[in-house]
Amino acid sequence: MQSRKLRFNKTDKKKWPIVVSIIIASILIIVPVTWIGLHNWDLDKSLSALNIATQADEPTQIISDTQDKSTGETTDEEDQNPVPNEKPKEIETPDESPDEPKESPSPPVEKPANNMYIPNQKHPTSATIIDGFLVVNKRYPLPTDYNIGEDPNARAGFNQMAAAAKLDGFDLMAFSTFRSFERQEVLYNQYVEKDGQQIADQYSARPGYSEHQTGLAFDIGEKNFEQHWASVSFGETPAGVWVAQNAHFYGFTLRYPLGKEEITGYMHESWHYRYVGVEAATDMYMHKQTLEEYLEL
Ligand SMILES: [Zn+2]
Repeated sequence: MQSRKLRFNKTDKKKWPIVVSIIIASILIIVPVTWIGLHNWDLDKSLSALNIATQADEPTQIISDTQDKSTGETTDEEDQNPVPNEKPKEIETPDESPDEPKESPSPPVEKPANNMYIPNQKHPTSATIIDGFLVVNKRYPLPTDYNIGEDPNARAGFNQMAAAAKLDGFDLMAFSTFRSFERQEVLYNQYVEKDGQQIADQYSARPGYSEHQTGLAFDIGEKNFEQHWASVSFGETPAGVWVAQNAHFYGFTLRYPLGKEEITGYMHESWHYRYVGVEAATDMYMHKQTLEEYLEL
């Protein structure tokens, strides 16, 4: 027993530096790997967390998108990264001169809003065509004398849709299509008189800004259900649901959808459809896009 023990100790002593080296090497590998694993393999975040945990005065701070750059504080990690696929983070060196302005040298150019009228905007001498599409919204008016009448392709598309709807038991009507500048002027002034301009602007276009003046906008309803005409309730009727699901096959797009008020500038209108052709209408339907989004206005 004695000799065996001695022999063992002898061997153990010889192996001791190797064993210690292996343990140290293992720790050096396992600790960072475990750390990264625990932090969802997000190296930047892990380093950021490590930085906080050790209170180290690192020469370079890693600042994530959601961090408050003015204070350099890191918020709770769960709140910080709710989305797994986040944008790559920027690495910033510490601000040597705190008096320096924080703004970037070239501020991003702000896109003009489509949902607001441009004050004192003059009516143009020609219509706005973008990527082949006639565009009318609060930013793009029509000339006052743009008086082209109802678009024949839009009418043909509507007639086809109405024929298809009839097979499914719905008798569709286009109760308002082309409207001249003068007609819109009369309507708008009536609405302003009734509700005031601020409210009227939410549901009615100013003269020259109505899509109905293009001849491409069709207000759709169901015959004998006039109570739903020009009413959001049309969208909840079986006929309204049918139109919402099928209009794109005939080249029409729901122009002012629910939830897109900020983009279109108008309240949801379940009855107002705009003819854009089958291809564009289908694209917009599939991607749940408004004309503004489709044309990236
Ligand atoms: Zn309309």
